[in-house]
Amino acid sequence: MTQLVWFRNDLRAADNPALTAACKSRHPLKACFIVTPEQWREHDWSPARVRFVLDHANALSEELSGLGIPLSFITASRFTDSVEKLEEFCRRESIRHVHFNEEYGVNERRRDKAVKQALDDTGIAVNKYRDQTVAPVGSILTRQNEPYSVFTPFSRRWRSWIDEARPTLFPVPEPVGDPVEPARYDDYPPGFDNPPPGLVAIGEDSAHQRLEQFLDNRVGDYKNLRDLPSVDGTSLLSPYLANGVLSGRQCLIAARQHQGLGGNQEGLATWTNEIAWRDFYINILYHYPRVSMHRAFKPETEALKWNTPGEKFEAWKAGNTGIPIVDAAMRQLNQTGWMHNRLRMITAMFLTKNLFIDWRLGEAYFMSKLVDGFLASNNGGWQWSASTGTDAAPYFRVFNPATQSERFDPDGEFIRKYVPELAKLDNKRIHQPWTSGVIPGRYPRPIVDLKESRKEAIAKFQALKN
Ligand SMILES: Cc1cc2nc3c(=O)[nH]c(=O)nc-3n(C[C@H](O)[C@H](O)[C@H](O)COP(=O)(O)OP(=O)(O)OC[C@H]3O[C@@H](n4cnc5c(N)ncnc54)[C@H](O)[C@@H]3O)c2cc1C
Repeated sequence: MTQLVWFRNDLRAADNPALTAACKSRHPLKACFIVTPEQWREHDWSPARVRFVLDHANALSEELSGLGIPLSFITASRFTDSVEKLEEFCRRESIRHVHFNEEYGVNERRRDKAVKQALDDTGIAVNKYRDQTVAPVGSILTRQNEPYSVFTPFSRRWRSWIDEARPTLFPVPEPVGDPVEPARYDDYPPGFDNPPPGLVAIGEDSAHQRLEQFLDNRVGDYKNLRDLPSVDGTSLLSPYLANGVLSGRQCLIAARQHQGLGGNQEGLATWTNEIAWRDFYINILYHYPRVSMHRAFKPETEALKWNTPGEKFEAWKAGNTGIPIVDAAMRQLNQTGWMHNRLRMITAMFLTKNLFIDWRLGEAYFMSKLVDGFLASNNGGWQWSASTGTDAAPYFRVFNPATQSERFDPDGEFIRKYVPELAKLDNKRIHQPWTSGVIPGRYPRPIVDLKESRKEAIAKFQALKN
């Protein structure tokens, strides 16, 4: 009675509910990973993410081979084809039972429903597990059993759930057989060429090392440094978390252990709150599938008439808007496949409020570049910034990117790194070079008037109420 673990957004052996459950059955065990390049293209996956995922699928294959679990790579161009391919694979390998961890995007849910139906029809059992969040998705509800749409009460309930339930980790399974030869997938799919150099090391061990080093050495300063893009003040664990190499539970439990050992309580609490944000947005995706279908969480904002993207959108993408902090941020994204959180908010607000360009275009562009592209958080972050989402920034509170720049990059260190044209400007002029007459080199003048565009955006949101 051979069993199969189907790995998807959970590329790890430790703390993996589907793998642990399958191992417990003590039947022969196989694993698979389905490569779906067309689907990845439709979901705007970046070359950086595709490389990261395939490298980790190969690393997982090696890890599982030591446990006696052979991992097979199946190729299907899209999710719809993966149903048939998986069924074929199960028939060929005499699989009688399939285990996988749930995913919450609309296309993922449709695929999983179709897979279950097809396998049920052929007498193959299917078991699904809730894995992506610390508290099982859908379990954090208001007293009226409704989903939360505001973060702060969600996080309060989330923390008390953790205190009561005391979640634990699923252990790395014991070997189920002799080591096997690991399969590898080395056919890099076309269209995902030239990824930026890897940002973090490959492998579950590397993810855990980064987590431990962050908690041992840097979390104490997290509250003070997390908003400064020139400083290594955040964990840079997002590529691992977004692709399931590390779980939210592992982060939460490691942070709690450090709290118990007397680690910096304020830093740990602030960082743990970010794990709650991640869970919050996954719950939004789960309860409100419309957000993964390009729909605004706040339906009334669908009436906004966004500007035609055109040249200004191109300038934003390339980091040539004439607003130094926005340009530095966009160039960081384009060159590294990652952007600092404070800068994600600044660039998203600039696109949606100053240029008044549709958040969906920004969301897709981020996805097409990020190594940590994650539908729930990316959509949540964009809709927050555009004031169309749950618990969104109030529409009248529009960041001024120049003021944000003075506050969070006071010495212009980050700007100098990514916008070398401005490197010689002093710390005052570097944030708003256009105010001092001569703009150096070929650096552009601002493509939009910050004050006027802010007023116009507020008026357009205000008009929705009339
Ligand atoms: C417009 C916009 C788009 C975003 N797109 C993504 C995305 O595609 N993928 C993604 O993982 N995050 C996204 N974020 C959230 C956040 O910017 C990144 O998670 C963070 O910058 C990752 O860096 P880190 O690992 O050093 O974070 P840390 O500060 O060390 O935080 C630890 C972890 O908590 C989670 N986290 C932190 N902040 C948030 C947040 N605001 N929302 C949800 N989870 C959070 C991440 O998993 C992160 O790795 C986006 C935010 C905005 C405003």
